[in-house]
Amino acid sequence: MADLASRITDPNAPKAEEQPAGNEPSKPTGETQLDDAHDSGPGLVESNYDVEVKLSDLQNDQESPLYSVSTFEQLGLSKEINDGLLAMNYKKPSKIQEKALPLMLANPPRNMIAQSQSGTGKTGAFVLTILSRIDFSKPQQPQALVLAPSRELARQIQSVIQSIGQFCKDLIVEAAVPGAVSRETGVKASAVVGTPGTVMDLIRRRQFDVSQLKVLVIDEADNMLDLQGLGEQCVRVKTMLPKNIQILLFSATFPEKVMVYAERFAPNAHQMKLRQQELTVKGISQMYMDCPDERSKYDILCKLYGLMTIGSSVIFVKTRESANEIQRRMEADGHKVSVLHGAYEGMNRDALLDDFRSGRSKVLITTNVLARGIDVSSVSMVINYDIPMKGIGDKEPDPETYLHRIGRTGRFGRVGVSISFVHDRKSFQALSDIANVYGIDLIQLSPDDWDLTEKKVQDVIKSSRAKPEYAPTAVRV
Ligand code: ADP
Ligand code: MG
Repeated sequence: MADLASRITDPNAPKAEEQPAGNEPSKPTGETQLDDAHDSGPGLVESNYDVEVKLSDLQNDQESPLYSVSTFEQLGLSKEINDGLLAMNYKKPSKIQEKALPLMLANPPRNMIAQSQSGTGKTGAFVLTILSRIDFSKPQQPQALVLAPSRELARQIQSVIQSIGQFCKDLIVEAAVPGAVSRETGVKASAVVGTPGTVMDLIRRRQFDVSQLKVLVIDEADNMLDLQGLGEQCVRVKTMLPKNIQILLFSATFPEKVMVYAERFAPNAHQMKLRQQELTVKGISQMYMDCPDERSKYDILCKLYGLMTIGSSVIFVKTRESANEIQRRMEADGHKVSVLHGAYEGMNRDALLDDFRSGRSKVLITTNVLARGIDVSSVSMVINYDIPMKGIGDKEPDPETYLHRIGRTGRFGRVGVSISFVHDRKSFQALSDIANVYGIDLIQLSPDDWDLTEKKVQDVIKSSRAKPEYAPTAVRV
């Protein structure tokens, strides 16, 4: 990267980056009930390319965040829940599941702030808690609420609750996202998963009875509690809930600044935190492409298309406009790519993500709206077409968003590649800063030696098994 460092160009920054906060219209529209038949289902679905994941090896490796000493049976879950886990082929808990569950299930209930790397089963951890706390004799009475930053993540979590809870008779799970809750009936479910704006509207309109809620989960909690974004809405929702509700905060990242709010939001919580250097998932090979200038990025992206379609790929860009523009050009050049961002109408977004999950579309261009939480196991490549930035005028690099974006690959022991494009001094510096934050050694790719680039990427994507050497993860309780 040294040659790049000496290059000074004018970055001519485009418009402000899309934030998930801006994606949700304040008023839900439409009356349609959510169609949830969208998922190939969570769990270890083997992708159609040649990757054999030896999960059992990873789960026996003490250094892995997937390591555990116990079985799900030892966690004292109900028979119905255990049957659900079996059906999903969850054989052993991951570290976060094993460590956090006994604390979250204990009585009297206590709050929890839990951090664990991307793709290590945080959803399972809180879903098992939710299912263990629901009284199934009151299926239409809301008893658990999960808040998530995007429509897509809310629907995904809804589907995980339904999958693990498939043998819990009378379980009803509803998504509180724009257009999903019927105005006539309101929320009639034991577990509710929503985005904060819609949930707030439903409670205010008295369409969501929160009086018997026992558990509140905030997924992607650092993002959700950030006062620059969704924080205010989450705090407002919380003030409308029962005072003794158990609060569970989950994320792969908890920057110090947000931690202060988190501790206030979930007082007296058990805490499981990781050190900064433990955050990266070693199954993800992090690379960067040294592009000669901004304009060349597009041609390089097109050259990568063949590699992108070995598995599935997500391309992250800064703005909706550039997402649209790249799709238009790529399609004109004969490539098949989809776009998903906040300007699309809800049902359209659902259909687009369904297509991507099922493999009908394999390359998805998106903004930060999908940076967090989305779990599609076949994703083997993530491209940062633009380095994630934050702050006024996009002055600072955004290490958290970087980590979440690349975490769309390398799920639960799988391998994956991330390629970050740098093209000038600003982007180079931003990526170097991010690498320093996490202590990452980035692998350089050169657009001048295409054979070598292809080899480096293919070696990872087609490698026959996951690399077990995760960053050490001494979870501190
Ligand atoms: P995180 O929220 O930590 O990023 P997820 O909860 O989305 O990760 O889980 C990532 C993937 O791992 C999902 O596909 C999920 O079904 C799978 N998974 C979670 N727990 C287990 C387990 N104990 N055994 C096998 N697969 C699991
Ligand atoms: Mg998650």
